[in-house]
Amino acid sequence: MFALFPRLGRCRPMVSGPFARSVSGVHVWCLSNHESSLFLTMWAPSIVGAFFAFCFGACVGSFLNVLVWRLPTGQSVVTPPSRCPKCGHRLTWRENLPIIGWLLLRGRCKACRSAISPAYPIIELTVALLFAGAFLVFYGPLDRGPNDLFHDAASPWWHIQGFSRSWPAYVVVMTLVAGLVAMTLVDAKSMLIPVEIPTFVTVVAFVGWTVQGFIPEPRNFRDFLPIPATNWATAFACVGMLGGLGVSRWLVATGRLRASFSDWYDYVKPGGDGNDYPHARREMMAEVAFLLPGFAGAGIACLVAALIGYASTDLVCQPMTLLGGSMLGWIVGGGLVWAIRILGSLAFGREAMGLGDVHLQAAVGAALGWKVAVLAFFVAVFIAIIWALASLLLRRFSRFFKREIPFGPHLAIAAILFVVARGVLVGGLDGFTRTIEGGVRLATGVEPADAEIPRKSLPAQLAQPRDQR
Ligand SMILES: [Zn+2]
Repeated sequence: MFALFPRLGRCRPMVSGPFARSVSGVHVWCLSNHESSLFLTMWAPSIVGAFFAFCFGACVGSFLNVLVWRLPTGQSVVTPPSRCPKCGHRLTWRENLPIIGWLLLRGRCKACRSAISPAYPIIELTVALLFAGAFLVFYGPLDRGPNDLFHDAASPWWHIQGFSRSWPAYVVVMTLVAGLVAMTLVDAKSMLIPVEIPTFVTVVAFVGWTVQGFIPEPRNFRDFLPIPATNWATAFACVGMLGGLGVSRWLVATGRLRASFSDWYDYVKPGGDGNDYPHARREMMAEVAFLLPGFAGAGIACLVAALIGYASTDLVCQPMTLLGGSMLGWIVGGGLVWAIRILGSLAFGREAMGLGDVHLQAAVGAALGWKVAVLAFFVAVFIAIIWALASLLLRRFSRFFKREIPFGPHLAIAAILFVVARGVLVGGLDGFTRTIEGGVRLATGVEPADAEIPRKSLPAQLAQPRDQR
């Protein structure tokens, strides 16, 4: 495991012979006193930061518990304060502490002794671990050399900028993670995604990435931005499309355009499923009509940009680059799922993929950019297939595997994996494409044209942490 700590290169191998160099690719080192204190000084800031991230994440998890419980029933999220649902006993501040509160009470209400679900502390712990884990992956002194496990753990941008110069981006990504956990819980419980959650994540992403753009960073750092950069033409088109969709929303709100599936309950009883609804194909036309003003807006914006001389591929000022990247991610993420929804519904004559999934993937794109939104969608399909196979095998053992799981949680898990375990995913995708390439080579006898694509390397001066430059 000490391969993670590259700057300890001077320590001596603990064992001699062939094992000294490598045990299944992992170097074995021993640490002298001096070196272990070096290790501590290297890791201490990240560990302290991760501790604060953990505490903050536990509080966010505690808030999500309230949100997941109250949002679907239309109650206020802020008032009243937390109570025991059985006897109404109001929780003291100590019992309200995330994770610790449940442990102090040993999982039972103090007043009426009825059991409190362990789901509460588990959710708090999960969010806390995700916040702390992402902090370590982003900012920790991990080895990011080209052949290391953590090479693609996260863009080196995070580590080099440091938390003080990348906090808006961190807030955006963690808002997404928290929103995804909340959406998964609500979706798995009620098969619905409350639109407030992805909308909130999207607004935070647009604002956060804009604020991030005002924090200075080296100019030659553009390839490593954690969200793909945009040019003026794309930024204009995105603004135009958002404006067009805003017009569509207004048309629906004022009754000039019919919302799709507005006669759903004429055909489907509450709790019934989409097979009872006969007009799914017709409703897709209503959704295409909803999208048309968006495309018109994008076209008009491109024309305007060309007329005033902005359609060049010149790079944009930094705030607009990042906001443009976020808007493009929102459009591509949502657009991909919506396109599949429309095509699937036309093909099968029943609603394929909910509009909630469209909102969810749009929010993923807004926070992480269009590339991750597209890749995460395919990873989600992969996860869904594995889940379906596993539940086929396991359904006779547990009722848990018998229920139908909506697609939303798979999308959410894929996006969270891209935040905290990107290296594993990129390695997996690499291996997958290589396997396919190998298969193609075996079948056709043709060598692929570019077998080895050179990795982008950091400018040498940027490869060191900021304070050492
Ligand atoms: Zn009680």
